[in-house]
Amino acid sequence: MQNFITDYTKKRYILYGIISIIALSLPFIRINGNHFFLLSFVHAKLNLFFVSFSTQEFYLMPFVLILLFLFIFFITTLGGRIWCAWSCPQTIFRVIYRDLIQTKILKIRKNINNKQKEYSGQYLKKTIAVILFYFISLIAISNLLWYFVPPEEYFEYIKNPNEHFLLMGILFFGSLLFTLDVTYLAEKFCIYVCPYARIQSVMFDRDTMQVIYNEKRGGVIFDGKFKLHKKPPQGECIGCEACVSVCPTHIDIRAGMQLECINCLECADACSKIQNKFNRPSLINWTSVKSIETDQKIKYFRFRTVGYLIVITIVLIALFVMGSKKEHMLLNINRSSELYQISRVGDNIEVSNAYTFLFQNTDIKDHEYYFEAKIEGIDNGIEIIRPSKPFKISAGEQSKKIVIIKAIKKLANDNHKDVIFPLSIKAYAKDDNKIVIFRKTIFIYPKVSIFKEVK
Ligand code: SF4
Ligand code: SF4
Repeated sequence: MQNFITDYTKKRYILYGIISIIALSLPFIRINGNHFFLLSFVHAKLNLFFVSFSTQEFYLMPFVLILLFLFIFFITTLGGRIWCAWSCPQTIFRVIYRDLIQTKILKIRKNINNKQKEYSGQYLKKTIAVILFYFISLIAISNLLWYFVPPEEYFEYIKNPNEHFLLMGILFFGSLLFTLDVTYLAEKFCIYVCPYARIQSVMFDRDTMQVIYNEKRGGVIFDGKFKLHKKPPQGECIGCEACVSVCPTHIDIRAGMQLECINCLECADACSKIQNKFNRPSLINWTSVKSIETDQKIKYFRFRTVGYLIVITIVLIALFVMGSKKEHMLLNINRSSELYQISRVGDNIEVSNAYTFLFQNTDIKDHEYYFEAKIEGIDNGIEIIRPSKPFKISAGEQSKKIVIIKAIKKLANDNHKDVIFPLSIKAYAKDDNKIVIFRKTIFIYPKVSIFKEVK
């Protein structure tokens, strides 16, 4: 006799374990000092795929978000609400609270296969369940925070809670809100709050995988909203309602696809156990509308899914190309508000321009930096007065330098207006010849009449 029993629930639990291990361990993994993902507002930096980017490179973030949305569209078109029951933290923590803490550990709920029955009384056990979950929430919210405050700093901060009120507030109130959500709102969150549940159906097509009751085999149970039979006589459904009892969102899938269905497939598992006794497969399956209608296999590769795959590949390549062009130093140049400074030294009149250079070492190592300045088309026309020697900037740090550049010969002889020269700056790390960047600014030389005014 063939075994038709499915075990999607066990597979979900295994996936939950893998996801939890990855989510918990990823913030602790560093390559060259960088995290897989870290968005630090305190240090104004982004770590992506173990590469560090500064705020000036945040232009990569929209690409990451576009990629994320495209991936969600693709997965939803292909597998329906697969995210909801198989990866969403809301569902994972509902399983931990309802099935593990309430049912297995504290025995408040008597049967994991009946999620419709509410058990009154047992206030002490119910309070213990909420308190236990609050401690789990603290870990969950900490885990989320580690993607914004790296663990190596997070554990230092929580040793001094008085100095980190904001972090402590987010941790404790965030955990409280999350506990309220999982213990009180429960699946109502999926039905009434989650925006994804509302919009996902527009991404479906007739080939999208969904949890579907096979009316052709089981018989028609509902006419629109109304239940026709308690125990339908015309099909293979025996009306045991095991699929209804087990449903965490309290629906009857035999009424057709519903917004509340999170695709957990617990109803499919329940029905498979019943139908197996009759040597038949489950009446509820993870399949597509078209596949049920035509009795053919699900079409995974179709215009929409292939289209999403192509666009995702293009955005991914763009992200890697832009990420690989990352500069290991950054330089912003601002001129001072004065056009120039003129001073008499002996018989000579000296002209200088002042600038503020903001250097940033975006590399993972400390470096010693300096720069060269040149007026285009004029050799040996200027010299750098300040800073007079190279300077060190630690990895990831910024340094602001006041820069004075002086003309060392007469650059122009215009009686009517100041002359503007294009000035090229080549900044570099003295200890790594691969780190070099070029910037353009201007050098302003005064008109002749200005010199006559200088005493
Ligand atoms: S109908 Fe089935 S798949 Fe949908 S939420 Fe209920 S048990 Fe899960
Ligand atoms: S578990 Fe299967 S047989 Fe029982 S009511 Fe549901 S669909 Fe019918």
